[in-house]
Amino acid sequence: MIKIPKKRSSSYKVYYKNFLRYLERIFPLRIVFFTLLLFSLYFLVPLVLAFNYRTVPALVLAIFYTVNSMLVIYLFKANSIVLSRLGAQNESLQEAINVLIDQNAKEEQSALAIREKIGRYNTLKNIIEDLNENLSLDYVANNLANITFSLLGRNKGCCLLYLMDTKNQKLTLFKTKKEDSGLVIKAKEGDIFDYWVLRHTSPLYIEDIKKDFRFDLEKLKNQDLRPLSSLIAVPFISENQFLGILRLDNSQPHSYSQDDLRFLLTISDIGAFAIENGQLYAKTQSLAIHDALTSLYTKAYLLERLKEECKRSVRQNRAFSFLMLDIDYFKNYNDEFGHTAGDMVLKGLAQELIDYFFKHNAIIGRFGGEEFCVILPETEKKKALNYAEEFRAKVQQKKVLLRRQETSITVSIGIAEFPIDAVDEMELILKVDRAMYEAKRKGRNRVVVSR
Ligand code: GH3
Ligand code: MG
Ligand code: MG
Repeated sequence: MIKIPKKRSSSYKVYYKNFLRYLERIFPLRIVFFTLLLFSLYFLVPLVLAFNYRTVPALVLAIFYTVNSMLVIYLFKANSIVLSRLGAQNESLQEAINVLIDQNAKEEQSALAIREKIGRYNTLKNIIEDLNENLSLDYVANNLANITFSLLGRNKGCCLLYLMDTKNQKLTLFKTKKEDSGLVIKAKEGDIFDYWVLRHTSPLYIEDIKKDFRFDLEKLKNQDLRPLSSLIAVPFISENQFLGILRLDNSQPHSYSQDDLRFLLTISDIGAFAIENGQLYAKTQSLAIHDALTSLYTKAYLLERLKEECKRSVRQNRAFSFLMLDIDYFKNYNDEFGHTAGDMVLKGLAQELIDYFFKHNAIIGRFGGEEFCVILPETEKKKALNYAEEFRAKVQQKKVLLRRQETSITVSIGIAEFPIDAVDEMELILKVDRAMYEAKRKGRNRVVVSR
């Protein structure tokens, strides 16, 4: 095989040299000489003979044609040698061209792969920037599902994001992105494939579910009926803690490549970090708005909600009621049974408030010490009075067993309505406080409605 010229300019040089060699071969000196001889025999000899003798003897003519034929044969032979040499050269040149074409195709392919890689790294950079923009868990999960679905899912099939519920040790479907928005995902706690990822804490790659004998498809039929043929799924892991699963699936087989799975792993690595941050942020936010002892909303958060509720009430022209509740003689209770027993009573009362008022869409908070507040949206004070009376009676009847001794508490409740009793939230608090103190003054264990 001939040496392959690497650059275009050097290949031109080779062609030029070959061309010179070719000229040299087809026009060597002896051929030039014979051509001149032939020319003289053809034209000069017959011309001289004809001129001198006016006739051409047969012998001269015979010699002339014999020499002529020999010359033609010689030239034909010489030419065919040159032609065969050129043919061989042409073949090796063609071979070199083919090798170059192959090399070029390979280089083009690797350039394309590099371009694709650069594109993906740019996307990763954008993902990181996007995820850093907002710490909210909802935002982060939504962003991850959207990016994965469009980038790797090519907007086809489904992208599912599961989070681990550490309390119940179960997966919970947190975000979905689907090609068919009407499609219902039944496996809210994951299916056999998600539990495989959870058990092995490793990525899962299935090209064609029907040909994968690791899974019992009969079980899948009980979990979800949507058509499934291929999927890729990876775990979210942060510092050895399993946070959830990111998964893509499709009704068509062979929808994802090994490269897609590798990229999904990179997304899940970044995503795990962002999700953990989001979960911590959500926890901090929850701690900030929930009272540590009773888990009800704090006073600050309740005041914010009260302000919002006043605005909503004006906007929608709908009244709402506000309740303030205070335990009667609680200081005495503490003195008699101890502060820890008092704390238990506060916790128990908070739970009763949730149990009773939650069904009325109430917003319940601890206003401080042994005082609680309830916002009852879209409820007039007449109706609120009925609720409060029923609740007060319930509290009175409830017995708390302390060191084999039955104890109980009573509560005084004040009620005010927005916008009848107040123009804003501050006035509403003032009115409800007044109503509650009137209940105290009238003898406690009663409900007073603001007038
Ligand atoms: P009143 O009927 O007038 O409301 O009498 P009271 O004793 O309930 O009222 P007061 O405001 O004098 O006392 C409230 C008491 O609530 C004081 C305190 O011992 C108790 N208290 C406040 N916060 C807590 C708490 O977090 N835990 C416990 N155990 N007691 C608390
Ligand atoms: Mg009080
Ligand atoms: Mg009290």
